Amino acid sequence: MSTAGLAPYAADEALSRGRKYDEPASAYRGEYQRDRDRIIHSTSFRRLAYKTQVFVNHEGDLYRTRLTHSLEVSQVGRTVAVALNLNEPLTEAISLAHDLGHTPFGHAGQDALNACMRDFGGFEHNLQSLRVLDEIEDKYADFPGLNLMFETREGILKHCSARNARKLGDVGERFLRRTQAGLEAQLVNVADAIAYNNHDIDDGCRAGLLSIEQLREQPFFGKHYDEVHRRYPKLEDRRLLYEIIRRMLGVVIADLIGETRRRLVAAAPGSIDEVRAGSEPLVSMSDEMHEQHVSLKQFLHQHLYRHEKKLAMTREVQAIVQDLFAAYMNDVDQMSPQFAAAANGLNGAPQARVVADYIAGMTDRFAIAAHRNLVG
Ligand code: MG
Repeated sequence: MSTAGLAPYAADEALSRGRKYDEPASAYRGEYQRDRDRIIHSTSFRRLAYKTQVFVNHEGDLYRTRLTHSLEVSQVGRTVAVALNLNEPLTEAISLAHDLGHTPFGHAGQDALNACMRDFGGFEHNLQSLRVLDEIEDKYADFPGLNLMFETREGILKHCSARNARKLGDVGERFLRRTQAGLEAQLVNVADAIAYNNHDIDDGCRAGLLSIEQLREQPFFGKHYDEVHRRYPKLEDRRLLYEIIRRMLGVVIADLIGETRRRLVAAAPGSIDEVRAGSEPLVSMSDEMHEQHVSLKQFLHQHLYRHEKKLAMTREVQAIVQDLFAAYMNDVDQMSPQFAAAANGLNGAPQARVVADYIAGMTDRFAIAAHRNLVG
């Protein structure tokens, strides 16, 4: 497919490291469009609708879920990709898939599962996203997983320990050599952080755990509050909040585009491999914006993620994950037939990995129902 309009440092399918299993090209879709479509058709993607972002799925209909979070990441990423002549379909594919390995109940679920897996190699949602795409999805007759392009897989694996990187081959290499991923991968990383910082403010206020008054102490929010309030002094709170968030998003995205453009001009990479060889990422906010971003993130940590009500929910869902893990390790036949068959005859770490795959794939409500059935 044509790659006209792409910058020389963008991912270009004509120069891709390709797929693990060779496939004939599609007549009317580019290879990264094809990856995006496979991700959207996957079972794990549909499950994102019922997985927690910050608030457990049943707490309310209007909170972000992993699905709407992933869509927001994609929106931010695609805007920036187009502005910088990067590969938009690849950016979209990585964005939509970046959280596929998340457990039910968000980070609380991931931490609990990681603790259960301590003696069996641990559990990391990032690595799990890749595992879902490479191994767990089973729809295609010719290969396991979705057989995605190297650059899509590279983008999904954001972090990785050296121990795990050694087992992953090509896609793990950069963690051993301390090199970079392509620009689209770098971009999704930042788009993810921009998306959650902003939507978590909205969700936090909706839940009544954060207030506009409290957020005003935060300099970046406070500055936009003052501007909006001055111009629209009678605006009701919901619209006021939304107007502030959309302005913050706009300013951060414009800063990201400007700063990344500056860095690209300075480094002048001639290809994706020159981007990869760089000592640090080229997609970045300015130092000043990054400071504001981090300060907002810390604010959310302190006042939202560690809010007493949130912590109470965390303890509850961690107990669910621990109970499920213990029950399935004790009797693998309690899992669905496919996973029970996979675990049959295994013990120790290999058995635990099948159990972790099963639990990680669950939606919030499925995990709650399974827990009720097993433990009462
Ligand atoms: Mg995310």
